[in-house]
Amino acid sequence: MRHNDDAPFASFLHSRPNQKLTDIPVLGMSSTQVGKSFKHYFNNTLGRDRNCDKVHYPYVALAMAIRDRLMERWKSTQMAYDNADCKRTSYLSMEFLMGRALSNSLLNLGITDATTKGLYDLGILWEELAENEPDAGLGNGGLGRLAACFMDSCATLQLPVKGFGIRYEYGMFRQTIVDGNQMEEPDHWLRDGYPWELERPEYTQRVQFGGHTEYRRGSDGSFKVFWVDTHDVLAVPYDTPIPGYRNGTVNTLRLWKSAATDEFDLGEFNAGSYAESVGAKNAAENITMVLYPNDSSENGKELRLRQQYFLASASLKDVIRDWCDRSGQLFDGFAASNCFQLNDTHPTIAVAELMRLLMDEYGLGWDKAWEITQSTMAYTNHTLLPEALEKWPVRLFQQLLPRLLEIIYEINARFLRQISCYWPGDNDRLRRMSIIEEGGEPQIRMAYLALVGSFSVNGVAQLHSNLLKEGLFRDFYELWPEKFNNKTNGATQRRWLASCNPGLRGVINKTIGEGWISDLEQLRQLAPYAEDAKFRKIWRKVKQENKQKLAQLVKQDCGIKFDANAMFDVQVKRIHEYKRQLLNILHVVHLYARIKAGDTAEWIPRCVLIGGKAAPGYAMAKLIIKLINNVADVVNNDPDVGELLKVAFLPNYRVSAMEVICPGTDLSEQISTAGKEASGTGNMKFMMNGALTIGTLDGANIEIREEVGDDHFFLFGMTAEEVMDRRTYYNPEAVIKGDPDLRQVMNLLEKGHFNQFFPRLFDSITQSIRNPHDPWMVAADFTSYIAAQNKAAKAYRDVESWTRSSILNTAMSGKFSTDRTMREYNEDIWHLEPVVPLPLG
Ligand SMILES: *Cc1c(COP(=O)(O)O)cnc(C)c1O
Repeated sequence: MRHNDDAPFASFLHSRPNQKLTDIPVLGMSSTQVGKSFKHYFNNTLGRDRNCDKVHYPYVALAMAIRDRLMERWKSTQMAYDNADCKRTSYLSMEFLMGRALSNSLLNLGITDATTKGLYDLGILWEELAENEPDAGLGNGGLGRLAACFMDSCATLQLPVKGFGIRYEYGMFRQTIVDGNQMEEPDHWLRDGYPWELERPEYTQRVQFGGHTEYRRGSDGSFKVFWVDTHDVLAVPYDTPIPGYRNGTVNTLRLWKSAATDEFDLGEFNAGSYAESVGAKNAAENITMVLYPNDSSENGKELRLRQQYFLASASLKDVIRDWCDRSGQLFDGFAASNCFQLNDTHPTIAVAELMRLLMDEYGLGWDKAWEITQSTMAYTNHTLLPEALEKWPVRLFQQLLPRLLEIIYEINARFLRQISCYWPGDNDRLRRMSIIEEGGEPQIRMAYLALVGSFSVNGVAQLHSNLLKEGLFRDFYELWPEKFNNKTNGATQRRWLASCNPGLRGVINKTIGEGWISDLEQLRQLAPYAEDAKFRKIWRKVKQENKQKLAQLVKQDCGIKFDANAMFDVQVKRIHEYKRQLLNILHVVHLYARIKAGDTAEWIPRCVLIGGKAAPGYAMAKLIIKLINNVADVVNNDPDVGELLKVAFLPNYRVSAMEVICPGTDLSEQISTAGKEASGTGNMKFMMNGALTIGTLDGANIEIREEVGDDHFFLFGMTAEEVMDRRTYYNPEAVIKGDPDLRQVMNLLEKGHFNQFFPRLFDSITQSIRNPHDPWMVAADFTSYIAAQNKAAKAYRDVESWTRSSILNTAMSGKFSTDRTMREYNEDIWHLEPVVPLPLG
């Protein structure tokens, strides 16, 4: 597919290796020069004038001006990687929840101020243009956002890491709320074009599906496997630049779009089935049409498996193509120069695909191919929820990926032989550990394929990694303890503090300098200022302004008035029973009951904000959204309540909304059932922005509390161990009987106080609370949750002490930078050398 073979293009196109950046002019970064570029794109490229009434065009013009400046650094970075012939990591992820690019690009290029001035001089506020950019919402939640933060940190650390994902035509659905119910609308984010991407048809790959295998003697006399009669699909890459923070590095996020091969089914065509023949084009293009909107389970859907294989195959072929370009077809050095990090089990088919490519396409023997595979693949686990563990019916593999099924069978056979040697006669263990789960419908356990095929397996917070070793992957831990490690998640402070909270950025910069933007531990220097009353006053002022901005968003999107003097109590994340938005709303109902009973002495007014999307097929999650909205309706319209309590459900929670939400939050709700939230990253964004956490000992909450100290964290609830013990004798009826507050809340819900005209609407919710098998044990943590909430309210009354805690939360959030996370991945798993880009000009 590379066009450079057939045309004598100018030789500067082929100046590898050891090329120099000679003829690329360096674009100016001053306000005048940025303004000039902007005018050029607006007037000459887009052809607009003063009569342009759509903010879209000036936005695109600015994006193009910025993109040019990214482009020169992008090229110089990629050339430096080639010249250094360095080891690289490919980060394989089905999701990249990137959000908007403009503000982040300005920050990382170091031209926020220049751009502000350059456009201001033209009568434009760039922030207003930035609002026009749609979120790149190619992910569900934490897992996809983590991948995006990782990209930012790798570029900032100058690590040669490339992201590989899918360019979904439709990203995460847009959520609206109609009569309190979630409605889903397609997110056609590419409709007006996407100025940040670059199509690279010259790197198109071909991905096979279907067909069957044939064993034939090759020219050298040995048997070779041929995967034939396949229906092929093209994978066309679209690259997005990922700038590091003011360091000249620009890495690549490569997203694949599926396209039909131009080959027509001539048989069908000649038989007169023209439409059917063209129809095949549709099937090919469907692969990357839509993101599956399920946060933590999607089993058995053929299209989803197609997406997974499409990503794995296209990405591996691309990496190998690049390797062969640089090193010839010799694979001896491949493992030392490449690593593949699998973001959850979604891209795990890459284990079998790499084996196939090395053996069938490059002629390596099994042992050599396996050695390469096992020393390049690394797997990150993201959840302990059993329903989230991916399994695929063998039958589906047989139809769709017959050659890969053969390879998986062989991997499993060899693996089980190894187990029999370690534990002779232990048939139960063989059954437990087999990659193939036997039973009515045999299934492939993708997590086990990942475990067997990788040299590294990591969880995403200390507790989560420990629970993996003790529970889910116990057998594998006994076999390969050295594979297991922990990498506590993080968030990038560039987007999640410097860019989204300019007010706080300014205060911090003035106080301790700008070093924290690339070295978050430096925030520690803020700690002494927690004792400085003048500093606290400034801190409060910034928080107040951020609360006003958040109140504006709530007014605009929910029509509800939040008073910035009230405590802003926020829970935003995917709606899931384990995250326990239900527990939050029980507290709200409890507050409402107190107000109605006149129990309001020393009351702290509260604005409770809840937001998040439910998977479209997750009935209970959708019902919880309806309950939140109904409770909000009653509370907000009761004159007895007035300003004491407000409740809002924010529709369409997404990255750009979180950029307004976390700076304006006082209290961050992290209230999952202990042992269920692998890490959480929302908790970290809130902490960085000076929110105090009310939370359980789950995921990274534990580490957040360790860092900031118990005095500045509202802890409640059972530990993961207590949760497990209690299951055997859990008796929610007794809990409800024993707590008059909970009794009253249940009574209001069950007598239909929030569903006057729809009796029984919320029965399944109240029944789940009363169910002794309630996996989330909502009732069990109610009492201590209310106590912690009361403690938080009381603490909020002491303005100075609350501000002190707020400052300390920010000051002690250094650990939760993805810069730290990426450094750990690199030191323990990837072993990459940072590469400095070639100088420009
Ligand atoms: C950070 C983030 C998440 C993850 O939130 P958790 O509270 O860790 O589940 C999900 N969605 C968006 C848009 C985010 O920014």
